[in-house]
Amino acid sequence: MNQKILLTMKDISKSFPGVLALQHVQFTLRKGEIHALMGENGAGKSTLIKVLTGVYQLESGEIRMDGAARPIVNHSPQEAQANGISTVYQEVNLCPNLTVAENLFLGREPRRFGMIDWKTMNRKSEALLKSLEIPVAPAAMLEECSLAIQQMIAIARAVDMRCKVLILDEPTSSLDDDEVEKLFALMRKLKAEGVGILFVTHFLEQVYAVCDRITVLRNGGFVGEYETKDLPRVMLVAKMLGKDLDDLAEIKSAHSEHRFEEEKVPVISARQLGHRGTIKPFDLDIRKGEVVGLTGLLGSGRSEMVRVLYGADRPDCGKLMVRGRKAKISKPLDAMKLGMGYLPENRQRDGIIAELSVRENIIIALQAKRGMCRLMSRREMDEAADRYIDLLQIKTAGRETPVKSLSGGNQQKVIIGRWLLTHPDYLILDEPTRGIDIGTKTAIQKLVLSLADQGMAVTFISAEVEEMLRTCSRMLVLRDGRKVGELSGDELNQETVMQTIAGGGEDDG
Ligand code: ADP
Ligand code: MG
Repeated sequence: MNQKILLTMKDISKSFPGVLALQHVQFTLRKGEIHALMGENGAGKSTLIKVLTGVYQLESGEIRMDGAARPIVNHSPQEAQANGISTVYQEVNLCPNLTVAENLFLGREPRRFGMIDWKTMNRKSEALLKSLEIPVAPAAMLEECSLAIQQMIAIARAVDMRCKVLILDEPTSSLDDDEVEKLFALMRKLKAEGVGILFVTHFLEQVYAVCDRITVLRNGGFVGEYETKDLPRVMLVAKMLGKDLDDLAEIKSAHSEHRFEEEKVPVISARQLGHRGTIKPFDLDIRKGEVVGLTGLLGSGRSEMVRVLYGADRPDCGKLMVRGRKAKISKPLDAMKLGMGYLPENRQRDGIIAELSVRENIIIALQAKRGMCRLMSRREMDEAADRYIDLLQIKTAGRETPVKSLSGGNQQKVIIGRWLLTHPDYLILDEPTRGIDIGTKTAIQKLVLSLADQGMAVTFISAEVEEMLRTCSRMLVLRDGRKVGELSGDELNQETVMQTIAGGGEDDG
């Protein structure tokens, strides 16, 4: 492999109000390599690319090309392009109502006597497309080309403008397998010509199919740079999630023996339930006293799966049975009436009602379930609020305190109290412990286990695998909007979970 360094990004930092999007990130690209930039959603991949291409200004750090003594500063994408750095986004930046040739030479048309020289333009286009083996005629209208071809045309344009660094940010998200193969063929061809390619994808198998090296980011921080051949998939996932496989002690689930195994009919039973574009059809059974965890990388469909169960998104296929009877859930209130409770992922938006008091926030779901004709008495409300403030040890001056003045962890407990008050048979907790202090976290985990011991069925989602291993009796693994595994018993250990998240291991070919 050609070892010549093409691009060096050193100690790159960038912040947005309240977010350190990048902190001392390193990235190097060699001539003739395909380099994957990996990280969960929000890790900082797009920000790094935008800093590189002049969309955002650098706060600190340096960018150098070809090992030059002087760093470059890109104030705009045009300037970056002049420095040999081009980006092709999933949404191609071309003109649909012009021809392929016009798009290839837009803004840099060959001219004769001041007029556009169409003949030369078509000839050059033909040669360029041919050299890159892109199967399209120069005279074709761009809008008639498939998205894959449009992307290739954008790449051809960049290459012809002498780009040395080509950035592809999730170019494969909407391509089919065939198109992906063609794109890869083009990428390999450019690589052979010495172009350095920075490739972002959330498909792990694609990384292993085309990339030479991998840089991993997490939470805006630099995790490391690896040769693809030295980093097994499961290690890559561990790096993305921030786990160290070396000290993965097997954590025993603290969950007590089941006392509800005799219950034959699941509380919740989904058959090929799905929602186009978010979650592929899946089967799921949850019984009394079970805590079932959903795991997978961010964006793998964890929240989408529970949204379909709860009617927050209306399923467009399959069926859902609640306690053995076919259920029709078209909105969350239907689910509530069937004994389901749902603590949403985004509690600032879907959960807490900032302007109301702790008491009002706690009683609101029960009141909605009963209907407005059966208003709760003030005494009933006060008692309910005090009971859950006490039970969940919510730190608040009193039940009339505005909920917005509580800390995040205590707001979270308020919403949990809200759902417990409705006495659900089935409770969905989507990241109930995210962003809260460790003490409250443990309290919530214990609460989940004790609710299950009392017979409640629970679905628990958390980004922290350890936490789920401690609370769940079974785990469903999701990848790219699809259920790809179901683990229980001895399989409930960190390594197997990670391996299933990563996929493509010996087990599933
Ligand atoms: P990725 O591409 O890896 O999913 P991003 O680079 O888009 O991640 O985001 C990194 C972090 O910066 C996230 O926390 C995101 O919310 C934040 N962020 C990105 N762009 C902006 C912006 N324009 N304003 C404020 N925050 C942003
Ligand atoms: Mg991104």
